[in-house]
Amino acid sequence: MSTAKRSRNALRSNGSMATCRLCRGCYPAAQFIDGNGPRHLVCVRCAVEQGYLAAEDVPDFYDDRTAMARMSLFARRYGSLFWLVSCWSLWALLFQGIELWTTLTLVGLLAATLVVPLLFFLRTAKFKAQLRQLTP
Ligand SMILES: [Zn+2]
Repeated sequence: MSTAKRSRNALRSNGSMATCRLCRGCYPAAQFIDGNGPRHLVCVRCAVEQGYLAAEDVPDFYDDRTAMARMSLFARRYGSLFWLVSCWSLWALLFQGIELWTTLTLVGLLAATLVVPLLFFLRTAKFKAQLRQLTP
């Protein structure tokens, strides 16, 4: 993590917003790179895409990607539990009264209820390892 760049960015940020020439996004001044010509008014994301900057030189950009990766990691871990709860709620709401389907979906849901927590705990070690990789 480059503290020099961070403090430089902090000095440059005076609270004003500017519009990126390339993506039309509106960002604080700290999110823009220095330079003239093609580099004028280009945000760090576009600068990385255009090759003006390396991704490693942009701590904020890297932080965003890490945050996204962490979010999808959590989503993958807790998504299955979320779906299980949703399916049970749907079953309770919709499938009452349709004899055959009620039994079939109940069996399916019971199987899922047994399998999902098992997989959840089996994947705990892998999840922790992945999370450690994504922790700066
Ligand atoms: Zn841009």
